[in-house]
Amino acid sequence: MSAPAAQIGVTGLAVMGRNLARNLARHGYTVAVHNRSYAKTESLVADHGDEGTFVPSESVEDFVASLARPRKVIVMVKAGGPTDAVIDELVPLLDEGDIVIDAGNAHFPDTRRREAALKAKGLHFVGTGVSGGEEGALNGPSIMPGGSRESYEVLGPILEDISAKVDGTPCCTYVGPDGAGHFVKMVHNGIEYADMQLIAEAYDLLKQGLGASAAEIADIFRTWNEGDLESFLIEITAEVLSQVDAETGSAFVDVVLDQAEQKGTGRWTVQNGLDLGVPITGIAEATFARALSGSVPQRTAAVGTLPAHAQAFDVTDREAFIEDVRLALYASKVVAYSQGFDQIAAASAENDWAIDRGAMARIWRGGCIIRARFLNRITEAYERDADLPLLLADEYFTGAVGNGVQAWRRVVSQAALAGVPTPAFSSSLAYYDGVRAERLPASLIQAQRDFFGAHTYRRTDKDGTFHTDWSGDRTEQPA
Ligand code: NAP
Repeated sequence: MSAPAAQIGVTGLAVMGRNLARNLARHGYTVAVHNRSYAKTESLVADHGDEGTFVPSESVEDFVASLARPRKVIVMVKAGGPTDAVIDELVPLLDEGDIVIDAGNAHFPDTRRREAALKAKGLHFVGTGVSGGEEGALNGPSIMPGGSRESYEVLGPILEDISAKVDGTPCCTYVGPDGAGHFVKMVHNGIEYADMQLIAEAYDLLKQGLGASAAEIADIFRTWNEGDLESFLIEITAEVLSQVDAETGSAFVDVVLDQAEQKGTGRWTVQNGLDLGVPITGIAEATFARALSGSVPQRTAAVGTLPAHAQAFDVTDREAFIEDVRLALYASKVVAYSQGFDQIAAASAENDWAIDRGAMARIWRGGCIIRARFLNRITEAYERDADLPLLLADEYFTGAVGNGVQAWRRVVSQAALAGVPTPAFSSSLAYYDGVRAERLPASLIQAQRDFFGAHTYRRTDKDGTFHTDWSGDRTEQPA
């Protein structure tokens, strides 16, 4: 065996695995590389062999044999069945204390199952979120590793080394046991859905309210990117809106079919929000907005058929309208993040994950799709109070959102009058008003539930649970 003992291995060399392997090699690690079909392994070494030290293997056996112990194997294959297939192939070849890292987009219950199965065999299983797409994988992603703390002692320094850095701080930290890493990645993606939908609604408002062209709106987004809204998604929005379609000469955005797709992480996030009973309305509306855009038969039946009775936007002060939309976007965005962090807190409590929410905001500041200036504010909020029950209630966000509430109300009401759909702006405002309401009409719902199902209710003025005899003499009894 003349090959050097590799410090870490990557199996699955499609776009993500290939770039992650290159990133590791560029940081000086000796990287064992393997792919089901050998052609991808060969092409990686042929195209990028000069970037560092790769140890290619055609068989899984040779791949495992080329790794120094404890072995660290990153699995970067298609999520679902293929991940199980690769794990099943690897496990018999591994020894106690070795670490299998699933860096694909696994659903966290799968990660919990795999972690338990490998732990029973004396192996560590690290389900890790990796965000930033192919560019991030190569140049520094945001990395969200779960699994045992013991495995992080060994693996963490390598992952931190290859992650994005913001102000010298790695965008990687230990998230929590078993499925915590993939859970946090899932919520990250859910927030990404909300962020994108909110930006799309802002674009639509500017387009319809001002009659502005895509190029003009691109300039507005460029200006916004210099303030509180500074983020990767705002930056690329300006780029996309500036793009001209070579074939037609039209704005690129105008020739793209208006049916948004999803790969499933948004759906998982919403399903989990329902399971936990956490109102993640921003993420849910964003996911449903994509579903509505793709509801072709329903849209075909409705276009030109459903009466609008709408009134045109009446924008007398262009700059004031733009500022209103900016403030409404910022406030809605804070709501979406506040809800996402509530979801993390609820799952963390349910699964004993002890996730540090401030640290999650810190590792999302660079490398990932939702990287943004304002994540610093979230970290600071959780530094002020690690148990903050509501991000919106932190002193900074109370001020920042409060500052934009009137603008937010104007935008949402104008949009409703004009018949322009703003599901995420509107539902975020409804959440804001709901969560700050001293009294909600949920009292009536409880009374109705007691009426038809004897579900009982509690009173505002005394302890206990009660039922009213609705079908009899309507007297109240302790339940
Ligand atoms: P992908 O298209 O999801 O998967 C292709 C890779 O999986 C190939 O290496 C393929 O090997 C391997 N594979 C498929 N079935 C297999 C099986 N049964 N046994 C062994 N290997 C199998 O690749 P990707 O886009 O690079 O993504 C990899 C993972 O990262 C996925 O879980 C994805 O969700 C996640 N991810 C992707 C992005 C992104 O921007 N693309 C971002 C974050 C996370 P062959 O070459 O032999 O077919």
